[in-house]
Amino acid sequence: GATLGVMGGGQLGRMFVHAAQAMGYRTAVLDPDAASPAGLVSHQHIATGYLDEAGLATLADVADAITTEFENVPADALRALAARRPVAPAGDAVAVCQDRAAEKAHFGASGVPCAPYAVIETPEQLATVADDLLPGILKTARLGYDGKGQVRVADRAALAAAWQELGRVACVLEKRLALRLELSVIVARGADGQVVHFPVQQNLHRDGILAVTEVPAPGVSPALAAQAVQRAGAIAAEMGYVGVLCVEFFVVDDGAGGLALVANEMAPRPHNSGHYTIDACDCSQFEAQVRCMAGLPLVAPRLHSPAIMLNLLGDLWFDAAGTEREPAWDAVLALPGTHLHLYGKTSARRGRKMGHLTITAADAAAARATAERAAQLLGLPPL
Ligand code: ATP
Ligand code: MG
Ligand code: MG
Repeated sequence: GATLGVMGGGQLGRMFVHAAQAMGYRTAVLDPDAASPAGLVSHQHIATGYLDEAGLATLADVADAITTEFENVPADALRALAARRPVAPAGDAVAVCQDRAAEKAHFGASGVPCAPYAVIETPEQLATVADDLLPGILKTARLGYDGKGQVRVADRAALAAAWQELGRVACVLEKRLALRLELSVIVARGADGQVVHFPVQQNLHRDGILAVTEVPAPGVSPALAAQAVQRAGAIAAEMGYVGVLCVEFFVVDDGAGGLALVANEMAPRPHNSGHYTIDACDCSQFEAQVRCMAGLPLVAPRLHSPAIMLNLLGDLWFDAAGTEREPAWDAVLALPGTHLHLYGKTSARRGRKMGHLTITAADAAAARATAERAAQLLGLPPL
């Protein structure tokens, strides 16, 4: 049978491997960590660096098609692999997603508004930033995630100090918006240009990290959801994207009594906010990635149960005395419709994504009630 290869061995790679294997594929994972979550469950595990030529050559030897689960994989590595095998998404698309300045320019080219911003790469650009971008958030253009690499700045003095603190690397300054809520959309685009989408999900972040995802999105009207889906599709089509793409949006007041949609950022891969699709949709975001890579048909995914996902961060692995221990899952698993996913990480750290819990139910109110109870049992804040 055919082998599907993935760059990166984290939890996204692991869930991709599960989906690929369920459909009869062999899998190969490239990750330097000998105990990576995906490597542990893959047929083959190539334990070399992402830039290691021998590792890339081995991946191209064994895999019939290649994807990435790791956003910061060198785009050139994907471009080099593409000379030998189909690669989705392409290195060029991943490169856009790796750089906030390129990403925002791409949103603009796709006709999709984002928050007002300025690129800051030089002291001159810092000095001439428009006043109306403050208060703002200074974000490193590259490598930030889970709210890392960003600083909230109230005024020019704070902005200058923040740029210093971030090492004077290339940054974008974004105007800080008053968010009504946050949502994301996952689309899958085939090599033939066909696009399907998953239902719009509403996201709650705590300390810059995704905490809760709810579907159907309770605060999103059908018209707003349709606009989000249309925009995510336009963003994918504009770069000839192939594979699964997640676009995060802010919902803000439009100043005329309505709501407006503003693109935040995108991820060239399945996304944490789409994990609910495993248990609540008839095709998961990982199966969609397999279908895109393998050139299989894409069919519009259907949500069969309302769902709430709770992220399980490493914080839950420490008791009040700070001793590491596994949370007691029994009480949570005694609740109806709970689906526990643990990523097989060998050690817990505060803020580290260790797993997630998806709650499905016959209706949204029941899902919410069970999720509240699960959160309480786990010691998480109320939803
Ligand atoms: P991820 O882990 O999703 O990749 P990240 O580190 O790339 O996160 P962002 O998505 O840019 O960070 O921002 C993290 C969160 O900070 C957002 O989900 C939102 O809650 C808040 N935030 C970011 N930018 C703005 C803004 N311009 N105005 C208001 N809030 C913002
Ligand atoms: Mg991000
Ligand atoms: Mg984000």
